[in-house]
Amino acid sequence: MAVFGPSPKTGAMFEKILIANRGEIALRIQRACRELGIKTVAVHSEADADAKYVMLADESVCIGPAPSKDSYLNIPAIISAAEVTDAQAIHPGYGFLSENADFADRVENSGFVFIGPKPENIRTMGDKVAAKVAMKKVGIPCVPGSEGALPDEPKEIRKIAAAVGYPVIIKAAGGGGGRGMRVVHTEAALVNAVQMTKAEAQSAFGNPTVYLEKYLENPRHIEIQVMADEHKNAIFLWERDCSMQRRHQKIIEEAPAPELKARQRDRIGERCAEACVKMGYRGAGTFEFLYEKDEFYFIEMNTRVQVEHPVSEMITGIDIVQEQIRIAAGYRLRYRQKDIQLRGHAIECRINAEHPTTFVPSPGRITRFHVPGGPGIRVDSHVYADYFVPPHYDSLIAKVIAHGDTREQAFARMRTALSEMVVEGINTNISLHQELLNDAAFITGATSIHFLEQRMAKLKKIAGGESG
Ligand code: ADP
Repeated sequence: MAVFGPSPKTGAMFEKILIANRGEIALRIQRACRELGIKTVAVHSEADADAKYVMLADESVCIGPAPSKDSYLNIPAIISAAEVTDAQAIHPGYGFLSENADFADRVENSGFVFIGPKPENIRTMGDKVAAKVAMKKVGIPCVPGSEGALPDEPKEIRKIAAAVGYPVIIKAAGGGGGRGMRVVHTEAALVNAVQMTKAEAQSAFGNPTVYLEKYLENPRHIEIQVMADEHKNAIFLWERDCSMQRRHQKIIEEAPAPELKARQRDRIGERCAEACVKMGYRGAGTFEFLYEKDEFYFIEMNTRVQVEHPVSEMITGIDIVQEQIRIAAGYRLRYRQKDIQLRGHAIECRINAEHPTTFVPSPGRITRFHVPGGPGIRVDSHVYADYFVPPHYDSLIAKVIAHGDTREQAFARMRTALSEMVVEGINTNISLHQELLNDAAFITGATSIHFLEQRMAKLKKIAGGESG
C-alpha cells in the first residue's frame, strides 16, 4: 500500500528519548523508539522498579516514591533525569503530565524537545471554555451552550439555560477524566447545581470556572484522530467510536464508527485537519465530538496520544507514536491525505484489573498470564505472570485489539482472542467484554454513550426481581 510518502528531513532525528510515563504506554513508546533506532530512558517510581519495560529500556532512573504526585507528576525529578541521561526529547504518553502546558514549557525551557504540541495549544485546549471559543473560530461545530464561562448572577444563568433549553449540563472548564459535570433537568435545580459544580471544580481542578451546554440525550461519542507537522501539513486518520463508556470512561473503542456515511466522515475529518493548520497545531491530537441525529458537536480536544490510538493504527497502517516523534524532530508528515486508506475495521477492549460487575479495583500479583494471538490480533500490555499490579495507578493492564476486513470479522476475532486470554491472581473485566461482544444491540452497532449503564441497570433490576 502506497502510504509511504516523502519524508524530507528538516531536523536531526533524536538519539535518546526519555519516556515520562509508565505501564503499557511506556512500553508502546519504547517499542516505537527501538524501531527508529532511538535509545530510551525509562523513569519510574519505586513501585515500578521491577517492571520489565524498565529493564528493557537502555537506561532507567527512579524519580520518586509510589504516589504519582511524588514521581510521575514530579516535574523537577523528570527534568533532572533527562539532564543526567543526556536525553534530547521527552515523550509524555497520556495522562500524568501529557496535557500540562507548564510541564511542556519547562521541558522546552530546559533545552529538551517536548514530544507534543506547542505549550500554548495545550493551554488553550486544557481550558474547555477557551477550547470551545477557539474551535468556533476555526469552524468546528460545538454543542450549543453558554458563550464562555457562566456568570455568577442567578438570573443570568437561568436566562442562558432557558435559551439553550433543558436538559442542560454544567461542566468545569478545567475538568477531565469524566469528572466535574452535572446534568440539570429543571430550572428549579439549576442554580444549586451550578454552585455545587463550581465548588467541586475548585477543589478538584483548582479552577471554579464552569460553563453550560445543551445536554444531548442519546449521543454517540465519535472522535477524529489528527496529525500535523510544523510545516502546515495536517491529515486526519478517520474516526473512532468510543460510545461504550461507564461513568464517562471508555472501555471499548472501534474504528471506523458504525453507520457513519463516507461523506460525513470526510467532511468532519477535513474540518479537523483544516483547524489544525489554522491553529498552528503540531503532533497527534484528537477532536472529541458527541454525535446525534447526523450532527457532530465538539466537546474537547486531547493534545496527546490516546489510549485507543491502536484502532486507528490498525485501519490506516500508520504508527502514530513514531509519527509523533518524527514531527517533534522537525520532519514533515510522511503522508498526504490521499495516501490514507481506510482498511477494514478494528476494535479495542481495555482489560482492567477490576471486578467485572462491581468495578472494584483489583491490584495484586498476577499468577498466570497468557495473551491471545492469531490473525489480526494485537495485545499492548506491560504485564506478565508474577507481575504485581500496583494499587497506586490506573487499573489498565492490557489492550486487546482485533482487526478484520469487516466489523463482523473484527468482532469474531476479538471473541476468539478473549476466550484464549488467561489472567489469574487478580480480577479483570474480561467477562464483561465477552458479554458485550455477544450483545445483540452492540453487534448491530451505533449504540449511544448510555448503552452500558442502561444495560447494567436492566441487569440489576432483573437480578433484584429474581432474588426478591
Ligand atoms: P472529560 O474531559 O472529563 O472526558 P468531556 O467533555 O470529554 O469530559 O465529556 C466526557 C463525557 O461526558 C462524554 O463522552 C459524554 O459521555 C458526556 N458529556 C459531555 N458533554 C455532554 C453533553 N453536552 N451532553 C451529553 N453528554 C455529555
